Amino acid sequence: MVILVDMDDVLEQLVEAMVQYNNLHYGTDVRPCDIVEWNLTKAFPTLTREQVYSPEFDEAFWATVEPMPGADRVLRRLTEEGHEIYVVTASLYETLKQKMNDLLFRWYPFLDWDHVIVTANKQMIRGDVLIDDGPHNLTGGDYRKILFDRPHNRDFDEKSVGALRAYDWDGIYKQICLMADKPE
Ligand SMILES: [Mg+2]
Repeated sequence: MVILVDMDDVLEQLVEAMVQYNNLHYGTDVRPCDIVEWNLTKAFPTLTREQVYSPEFDEAFWATVEPMPGADRVLRRLTEEGHEIYVVTASLYETLKQKMNDLLFRWYPFLDWDHVIVTANKQMIRGDVLIDDGPHNLTGGDYRKILFDRPHNRDFDEKSVGALRAYDWDGIYKQICLMADKPE
């Protein structure tokens, strides 16, 4: 199968790192579980939008972002089983060099730039399945869909777009095995 994988909050814990950065730099006291909406600014009512999203533009930030537990192990296994992995990310172009070097290729050295697709229009991309935490990326699109469970998408009814919800990377692996019609 061609497996399309979102980056932010699927391959890495972006929300956690942004909350930590903002608390440190702006003196807020927000917890990652307080991020219950896609719009991060709602959890930081005392900060401007520019401040809330400022971590992404700090080149030192990306090395502080932790990988998502289990993703490395499962992606390696899927690769060994013959699946093709493509990272599909709507990353801002200003952030790309640092984000790829300090985050994606650091934690996932078996991936390379030939397997990264940068677009905000994921529905334009062809693949067998997309794993993503963003409901807007799972609405439409000619691929099967796995919603990666995060506090900011708990209100979303994944069945309304024909998606399955996975709670961790082992859950993703099980669903892909079922899709590939292969026993776990
Ligand atoms: Mg994401």
